[in-house]
Amino acid sequence: MNELDKQISMLDSINKRLVKDSKILKLICDTSNSAFLYYNFEEDSVQTIANWDYFFDFKITEHKDFYKFYDCVEEKYTSPLRETLYIEKRGLKSSTIDVKMKGSRMWLEVESDIIYDDDMHPVEKIIRFKDVTKFNSQNDELTYMAYYDLLTGLYNRNYFVRLLGEFVNRAKENDKKVAVMFLDLDDFRKMNDSLGIIVGDEIVQIFGQFLSELACENVIVSHFSSDLYCIGIYDPCGDFSVDAICRKIFKRSEKPYKLSSGRNLTLTVSIGVAEYPEASTTALELINCAEIVMIGAKTNGKGRVQYFDGSILEEFLKNSKIDNKLKEVDFSQNFVMYFQPQFHTTDKMLRGVEALIRWKDESGKMIRPDVFIPIAEKNGTIVPIGTWIMEESIRIYAGWKQKYHYPMLLSLNVSAIQYKQPDFIDNLINILDKYGVSPCEIELEITESILIDDFKEIIEKLAVLRNKGIKISLDDFGTGYSSLSYLKGLPIDTLKIDKTFIDTVITDENTRIITESIIYMVKRLGLETIAEGVETQEQFDFLNAIDCDNIQGYYLGKPMPPEGIEELIEKVHG
Ligand code: C2E
Ligand code: CA
Ligand code: CA
Repeated sequence: MNELDKQISMLDSINKRLVKDSKILKLICDTSNSAFLYYNFEEDSVQTIANWDYFFDFKITEHKDFYKFYDCVEEKYTSPLRETLYIEKRGLKSSTIDVKMKGSRMWLEVESDIIYDDDMHPVEKIIRFKDVTKFNSQNDELTYMAYYDLLTGLYNRNYFVRLLGEFVNRAKENDKKVAVMFLDLDDFRKMNDSLGIIVGDEIVQIFGQFLSELACENVIVSHFSSDLYCIGIYDPCGDFSVDAICRKIFKRSEKPYKLSSGRNLTLTVSIGVAEYPEASTTALELINCAEIVMIGAKTNGKGRVQYFDGSILEEFLKNSKIDNKLKEVDFSQNFVMYFQPQFHTTDKMLRGVEALIRWKDESGKMIRPDVFIPIAEKNGTIVPIGTWIMEESIRIYAGWKQKYHYPMLLSLNVSAIQYKQPDFIDNLINILDKYGVSPCEIELEITESILIDDFKEIIEKLAVLRNKGIKISLDDFGTGYSSLSYLKGLPIDTLKIDKTFIDTVITDENTRIITESIIYMVKRLGLETIAEGVETQEQFDFLNAIDCDNIQGYYLGKPMPPEGIEELIEKVHG
């Protein structure tokens, strides 16, 4: 072969390779669900690539056509979009924003990347447009769910507590009153059992619809759960006094409600009322007081209203068996700590354990933590119990550490009341010192209820804990007023997606999409994710597929005594 033939053959093979590469590149672009815009600064040339027509009904052939973008996105996004398109002016390398398209519900992610020469002059720029509608519109839906109850369309509990807190603050400033009315439908359980839960749901909706008509600027209405509703009134007087609203409710109870089946049903309701400032000075306590006197109204004969007075509260607490038992319980005799393992999703290695308390009373009866912890929170015993839980869990954890040297986290549930104690952090640090455990090995699980009162102070405290290396995890995400946008400002490391999502993630398409978008977004915020209550392989596989970082649930491990965790460490990690 002469020299020329050699060169021709070489060029031919290079050419083939280039054709192949460009085919692959085109395939990648076409299937990427994106459009690209390439701009060469030196040649001042512009080229559009991939699915351009899917996104835009105009062409871009030169740099000055860029203005056409501003006509197609909603006005408030034009300024950030401009910055992303002309990013070289800021000397930045890359930038990403989401913009909403005009006239359609499409959301675009616009990402711009620049290549500079050695003298830092921009040479080439690539702008990618990606359809992220799926994730952003789910965020809208999520925000709705965060504030409203899906069944009735009324405010949900957590958001109501927040609004009520605002009423109380306003009343403090203006020397006004706030009334809280706690409502419970009479005989609802009986109706539910005899007519079925679908009719039960309809009853809850119909009554919610009636209550929603009472709402106005100074009256907020919420559906808490099942057949429980709560109304908050700022500066109750005239048509909006408690008496006037009670009269409307009782008057309505005289007439039957019509169900979709044609059946007529009469509903009566028991109401408990507590007022700021007499009953309490915080939103949560006002609700508690109103609930307690509502129970009094029921026992005194249903279909009536009961106003709060101090003796009712005392009576209630005195009569509450658990409440009394809690005050006498011998911690080390009757409480034990169980631990539930948490696993990394990808390799099923142990990430850590969550400490969960168990109470066996003298008669050997188990009392569930979700029953007695709320009572302990009400009567204040949660503070010493919480300290005991911290010490006992950390003591056991330190034993494992010494024996196995296996790196894992200890997650502790911290209740709002406990967290608010001024010596909470010092206490925790002292216990850690005592057992030689580093703050980096501890994760505190908090719920959004912590954030309701005095937000600023709570956040500062979280920051102090994190500075010491302690991780913060937001528990039960999705059950409260949690919106993704408010997560952005929270000093937290981990997010636990509540079991209620996982329960229906396989059977309900909506939940599936929402869970996927939560994980997608939360990871973008740089947080770690844990799914709670994972019970089946199907749920596990789905969560693995959508990149949820960690898994906790009966599928991989129930809460167990410390020996169970030891066995687990030995089995999995020698
Ligand atoms: P939580 O913090 O959300 O704890 C998770 C609960 O879900 C635990 O119930 C656990 O046993 C249960 N669980 C975990 N995986 C599964 C699953 O796959 N299926 C089902 N059906 N359930 C699962 P537990 O231990 O009864 O605790 C209930 C609640 O009591 C906790 O909810 C927490 O709010 C409170 N609690 C428990 N221990 C403590 C504690 O030490 N301190 C404080 N402050 N609260 C605690
Ligand atoms: Ca927890
Ligand atoms: Ca939880």
